[in-house]
Amino acid sequence: MQDCIFCKIVNRELPSDVVYENEDILVFKDIKPEAPVHLLLIPKKHIPSLLDLSEEDAGVIGQIQLAASRLAREMGLAERGFRLVNNCGRDSGQVVMHVHYHLLAGRPFKWPPG
Ligand code: 5GP
Ligand code: ZN
Repeated sequence: MQDCIFCKIVNRELPSDVVYENEDILVFKDIKPEAPVHLLLIPKKHIPSLLDLSEEDAGVIGQIQLAASRLAREMGLAERGFRLVNNCGRDSGQVVMHVHYHLLAGRPFKWPPG
């Protein structure tokens, strides 16, 4: 997708601080962190939101969950925990229309989030 900032990050047309990458997913630091740890986990394929997922995307979404689990462990977050968030659509606050999960950690979070 030409005008998608996350596609540009995937294609290295925009810089980012990459934490993990494989053939299907990219993990990089959020430019405006809301917590001491704030990563974004995305499929390399352009999918606007969770509402646009198809059966063929099940694998990549699974990979994102597994990467979040593994990275959290590697970053020493297992004891304190972390939050994995997907915003979908206007009311959720989704701004970038390319599926992404926020991995947030390093401070306590409220529930419900408000
Ligand atoms: P959303 O509100 O769509 O769930 O979250 C989008 C996230 O992308 C925000 O946390 C925002 O700070 C982050 N973001 C937006 N543009 C860029 C960028 O160019 N680079 C990086 N690394 N993060 C970005
Ligand atoms: Zn995109």
